[in-house]
Amino acid sequence: MELACLDLEGVLVPEIWIAFAERTGIEALRATTRDIPDYDVLMKQRLGLLQQHNLRIDDIQQVIAGLAPLPGAAEFVDWLRERFQVIILSDTFYEFSQPLMRQLGWPTLFCHRLITDQQGTVLDYKLRQKDPKRAAVKAFHDLNYRVIAAGDSYNDTSMLSEAEAGILFHAPQNVIDEFPQFKAVQEFTDLKKAFIEASDRKLEI
Ligand SMILES: [Mg+2]
Repeated sequence: MELACLDLEGVLVPEIWIAFAERTGIEALRATTRDIPDYDVLMKQRLGLLQQHNLRIDDIQQVIAGLAPLPGAAEFVDWLRERFQVIILSDTFYEFSQPLMRQLGWPTLFCHRLITDQQGTVLDYKLRQKDPKRAAVKAFHDLNYRVIAAGDSYNDTSMLSEAEAGILFHAPQNVIDEFPQFKAVQEFTDLKKAFIEASDRKLEI
């Protein structure tokens, strides 16, 4: 049996925090782990900004609902789900991703959670587990699944290494250069081909 595991942001949808920063005009929300390497410090800053701008979970979801998946992504997910069981492994939050997942037809998503109060104020966040993408692929192996995985960035490389086949999609050149063991493609048509090549079944496009 085979599973297809996909990263979400940068693969199927835009980088959500960056798109959110653009929509709201809150420049400081553009910061990523490249600017603030400590994820906890970064998240606390983001939550502080949400509070400062009085953005509750509904407001956030409304803004994100104005975003669309990347061109061709919804069609690709449909294509993939006809051929594989598909699981999205992401470092986003369920509450954030909801409006975009709706547009992708609600594929299975493993990610993290935001903690809100009755009024919808975002108080905190809860990571599902440490190194969640690798842990998920390991668990699928225990369930006797062969895994083909695709992602675009550093936080995907442990998932790609753990999988039987790892594919870089939309990855920046520095990631491609640093991880030459993974096939790298930029277009959904080539990603389809890569999944078919990596499969142990005879599949057709
Ligand atoms: Mg990504």
